[in-house]
Amino acid sequence: MLRTLTRLLRGRRDSAQLDFGLADAAPKNADELLARLRGLGLTRLHRCKLTRNRNVMVSFGGDELRVHEGYLDAPEPVLRAIVTFVEGTTRAERRAAQRVIVAHPIRAARAPARRDRTHPDDVAVAEKLAAWHQRFNVRHFHGRLRHVPIRVSRRMKSRLGHYTAGTSGGESAEIAISRAHLRRHGWEETLHTLLHEMVHQWQDETSRTIDHGATFRAKAREVGIAPYARRVLATRPGRAEGSQTLGRRAARDG
Ligand SMILES: [Zn+2]
Repeated sequence: MLRTLTRLLRGRRDSAQLDFGLADAAPKNADELLARLRGLGLTRLHRCKLTRNRNVMVSFGGDELRVHEGYLDAPEPVLRAIVTFVEGTTRAERRAAQRVIVAHPIRAARAPARRDRTHPDDVAVAEKLAAWHQRFNVRHFHGRLRHVPIRVSRRMKSRLGHYTAGTSGGESAEIAISRAHLRRHGWEETLHTLLHEMVHQWQDETSRTIDHGATFRAKAREVGIAPYARRVLATRPGRAEGSQTLGRRAARDG
């Protein structure tokens, strides 16, 4: 599903590239990228930073835009999509832009960091979680979600768990669950987190954006979990307003 979408977009990109011509050289740094985006209609943001975190493609907050360096050589339709992601006025518009952004393949400058392994003492817990993944899959997703490795992490402290999408470079998707979370909050809460991450997996496998937006909330309610990014909803009005992140990972925080 995702591959089809990528190919479709790539095809569209090639023809768009022909339409627009290749007159503009690719921006070489953050300033040139910002100038290019402003030329395409970006007005809200005045600073730009390049990032290397492969899990985040584009994010913005305040007047700063952060873009993964893999977008420096992105074709114009993708750059236009970044502008729409920031400036777009309707949700549909921004959603369409997100798809274009996510479909752009970013080449990793460095080899991906090796993932942690589940500690031998936690293997039994990981297996139990995998069994629950199967059960939840049948119960809430018609058994359509793929098998993904589930890792128990001893490093995660404030985060309860996360789902990370696979990459075209061959890195597999995974769900990681915090061992500290299990110890602190117990098995029921940990299953809640597992299901939360499975909603992100569902977003990914159905070519939706991985986020905590309206689709996430609707699906979370459907499967019977709290539709929030955090375990306890902290109401801090205005704090997150006007800031957004688009990436391949979503975490549940404690
Ligand atoms: Zn989440």
